[in-house]
Amino acid sequence: MDSEKPRRVVLKISGESFCPPQDRGISMDSVNHLAAQIASLARKGVQIAVVMGGGNILRGAQFKASNSTIQESTAHYMGMLATVINGLALQDAIEAQGQPTRLMSAIPMDAVAEPYIRRRAAHHLEKGRVVIIAGGTGSPFVTTDTAAAQRALELDADILLKATKVDGIYSDDPVKNANAVFFNTLSYEDIQRRNLRVMDSEAIAKCAEHNMPVMVFNFRTEGNLERAALGEHIGTLVKK
Ligand code: UDP
Repeated sequence: MDSEKPRRVVLKISGESFCPPQDRGISMDSVNHLAAQIASLARKGVQIAVVMGGGNILRGAQFKASNSTIQESTAHYMGMLATVINGLALQDAIEAQGQPTRLMSAIPMDAVAEPYIRRRAAHHLEKGRVVIIAGGTGSPFVTTDTAAAQRALELDADILLKATKVDGIYSDDPVKNANAVFFNTLSYEDIQRRNLRVMDSEAIAKCAEHNMPVMVFNFRTEGNLERAALGEHIGTLVKK
């Protein structure tokens, strides 16, 4: 990295970070905890674009049941709208910490968010505003992981940070399998070959193709976001 260039990170936050484990919706404690960490990082001069998930409200895939009259593509658009709801909550919570923000949406929604325009997003980052990116990619049948990979590439981020509720990537779900093995470092190919469910396959393929490093870490551990953003190897680092 050019030492003159300020550090720029794209942070993917799942909707589930907005509520206690096994819960749904938005818990103010969870949102405030995240907002405080993000604001503190921004105050240190790190440029942060947050790509917001929506799974705490709904995911398109949950309407796949055979008796569902909601078309799958409609359900995905509903999921993208959920990310805007979360984005609005995060925006106010970060601004309550005194940090300026901009909410941008890939689905035009002028009354509540700016349209996502790459050059404008980059300008906000340069001005020290936390950019919250909602609406995913604006297209159905992918998840916000793909949106995060896409934004990290086009905004020329130093790293894509994926905040999770576990310490990194394991061979299996560590919550369900006590023998799951933790990986310190993985290549993109390892993830594809072992079929590890880290991010959706399109997101991994995009990062692999363009050599975008990804750090998967536990956001609930105090200080982790800052350490990951500043380049410390915590959790699992995915790279070439
Ligand atoms: N979604 C979509 N296109 C996108 C991003 C998201 O269709 O580019 C939909 C998809 O249905 C997804 C939902 O929005 O399940 C919510 O996003 P996601 O599941 O990624 O949220 P997270 O799991 O990160 O909370």
